[in-house]
Amino acid sequence: RQLPSSRPARLGWARLALRGAALGRAPGPSCWSCGAPLPSSDGPPHFCPGCQALQPPAPRPDLFRLMDCDRSFRVDPGQLQRRFRSLQRAVHPDRFGKRPPKEQHYSEQHSSLINKAYQTLLNPLSRGLYLLELKGVEPAKETDCDADSAFLMEVMEINEKLAESKNKDLEEVETSIKVKQEELTREVTAAFERDDLQEAKKLLGKMKYFANLEDKLKAKKIPS
Ligand SMILES: [Zn+2]
Repeated sequence: RQLPSSRPARLGWARLALRGAALGRAPGPSCWSCGAPLPSSDGPPHFCPGCQALQPPAPRPDLFRLMDCDRSFRVDPGQLQRRFRSLQRAVHPDRFGKRPPKEQHYSEQHSSLINKAYQTLLNPLSRGLYLLELKGVEPAKETDCDADSAFLMEVMEINEKLAESKNKDLEEVETSIKVKQEELTREVTAAFERDDLQEAKKLLGKMKYFANLEDKLKAKKIPS
């Protein structure tokens, strides 16, 4: 962030906005604080070039753009994490303690949006579902793989093992869940790369079963 600019610059913005209005131009986004016209943005948090005020997040921002990733199932977790940290630093509510309440509120909104974007893109299941949503494909349901009885048998077996296992045997179940999740992630990656969205949707339906198994496993591990 730079120092707030001088007063004449602010008046310049106001004059520009007025001229736009006089010409009957559709009003684009403008700064909530000084009224300066702003470029529209659905990407990273941005500050007004006139008065440096933090602007509110877009109503439905593109999480891939926000996190500076290509719109693809393949993401680099290290890069994602670096981006997450740098964005969180830029909008951290602690930095806005002396700013107007409105700006503090925006910094909190940005902060929780950045958290959401990071979690959504880091987890393969939520990343895949979000990517399908962006491509206009209806959400994957567990019933999408009902026809695959071999798969359902596999899930049932792991479920039984999980129910029967004492703490010392949970490791084996944990490994089989993890191996299967990695296998499904590879298959989903390949399906998205072939642009076979129906196959990706089916595989994500399978991933949901394993996400449930993972949750059950975690719940079982807590009391130990
Ligand atoms: Zn401004």
